[in-house]
Amino acid sequence: MIIPMPYSLPQLPYPYEALEPWIDGETMHIHHDKHHQTYVDKLNETLQSHADLAAKPIEELLRDLNALPEDVKGGVKNFGGGHYNHSLFWEFLKPPAEGGGAVPQGALAEKMNQDFGGFDKFKEQFSAAAAKLFGSGWACLALGADGPGRAGKLQIISLKDQDAAVTVNMKPVMILDVWEHAYYLKYRNKRVDYIAAWWNIANWGKAEELLG
Ligand code: MN
Repeated sequence: MIIPMPYSLPQLPYPYEALEPWIDGETMHIHHDKHHQTYVDKLNETLQSHADLAAKPIEELLRDLNALPEDVKGGVKNFGGGHYNHSLFWEFLKPPAEGGGAVPQGALAEKMNQDFGGFDKFKEQFSAAAAKLFGSGWACLALGADGPGRAGKLQIISLKDQDAAVTVNMKPVMILDVWEHAYYLKYRNKRVDYIAAWWNIANWGKAEELLG
């Protein structure tokens, strides 16, 4: 019996080369067509004998990992998390020619003022979090729910490997991939240079949309 493969690789919302000079086309090809595709393939493989689960949106499975059968829990966490995080990540990038890197406006700007003391202070803290994350993972701006008085506040969190913000009951509104595969071809070991470049292509319009 052939089981349909329910999860699929989303198309990039811009050409591979459109983020240059900040992220090169070759990195985008490999990152999207190889790395992200592999997460999708392995997620489908993981859920091959669980058609009921594979029919659900990946975000729903990641929200409650403990509810999953033991034999798929690890696979959904790693491959499902990889699929989910990358699907968000592509949307959070915007070609410089189309306004990528423009500073946040409206409700998001106001919220950054309240929760971080302004965009510049946020930028400093987010860059530091992304730079100091040990090993592979993601820096994430998320709407919080963890801890007294934190609900509804914007927070900067670090996600290890392919952990997803929704698993810790947070809503991601921006994420930055700091796995080496995201920058090594162009920036080599200089993650800090990649982070500095990324501000030129961050899509704050998308973040504002998700905040709503
Ligand atoms: Mn990646």
